[in-house]
Amino acid sequence: MKALVYTGPETLEFQDAPDPVATGDALIRIAHVGICGSDMHAFLGHDERRPAPLILGHEAAGEITAGPGEGSRVTINPLVTCGVCEHCLAGRENLCAQRQIISMPPREGAFAEYLTMPVGNLVTIPENVPTEKAALAEPLACGWHAVRLAESALNRPLDQAKCLVIGGGAIGFGAALVLRARGATEITLVETNVARRDIIAREDGVHAVEPAEVEAGFDLVVDGVGFEATRAAASAAASPGGVIMHIGLGSAAGGLDIRRMTLQEITFIGTYTYSAQDFRDTAQAIFDGRLGALDWPEIRSLSDGARAFADIKAGSVAAPKIILAP
Ligand SMILES: [Zn+2]
Ligand SMILES: [Zn+2]
Repeated sequence: MKALVYTGPETLEFQDAPDPVATGDALIRIAHVGICGSDMHAFLGHDERRPAPLILGHEAAGEITAGPGEGSRVTINPLVTCGVCEHCLAGRENLCAQRQIISMPPREGAFAEYLTMPVGNLVTIPENVPTEKAALAEPLACGWHAVRLAESALNRPLDQAKCLVIGGGAIGFGAALVLRARGATEITLVETNVARRDIIAREDGVHAVEPAEVEAGFDLVVDGVGFEATRAAASAAASPGGVIMHIGLGSAAGGLDIRRMTLQEITFIGTYTYSAQDFRDTAQAIFDGRLGALDWPEIRSLSDGARAFADIKAGSVAAPKIILAP
């Protein structure tokens, strides 16, 4: 098969790769696969968990061509977990110590024509939903999980909470769409890129602003970026008794105003990926149209994937997500 292979820092090559063999798993022909911030991080050579050579990509949907479910179109939950540990049994599979994610050894990723997956990781796509929208289940599920956790920590119902999302990539924008779907009515999203802000501003109920326009007093702040500057902004923007949900993996430390968070009893919750149920619930919300038209990703060819990575690095991409089609 053809695959977009990460062969070293800032190098991706569209080349022949071994066909995956489905021993009991489903063999999927990938139709669409999104580029994630974590793929970018690995591409730049900053992720020691993802050494070259490796096929990246974990936001994928396609059609089963062999094995169980042959002929079905599916979206893929990329987290493979043990199913028997304390966390898996509690429905918190994302905390499983044995967890694997495709695009990290020992599992190859989905920037390829084919991929094998355990059938329990697959959600069938209804006929009227295109695969490029179904492929958004993974990034949107991160927001779904974060908002679900936030709801149990907030001291008021979501429909009465003033919400701020930092970052208009698919994680932040996705969290804003989930907030809207779950009943929030006051949603501000702060994004530095003006072209991206214009795309986000087209979405009903999401107020897109530039950083200088953000004031304090938010019951809920979602940091979908995760750098020092955004954590500092989140610390300042949260109201007394408010909640900060931290999804972004930009940098490992710095930025939080621990003193203010202590004096003002601001709750900080770190959140990583989603449970298997969150993933299924997000996919269903996409299928039902509850997350909007989802017409904002830019679709490009997998063979031209290296250029997409270069454009994202250069900051010249307005769309909150680029999706590649093998
Ligand atoms: Zn992702
Ligand atoms: Zn487990």
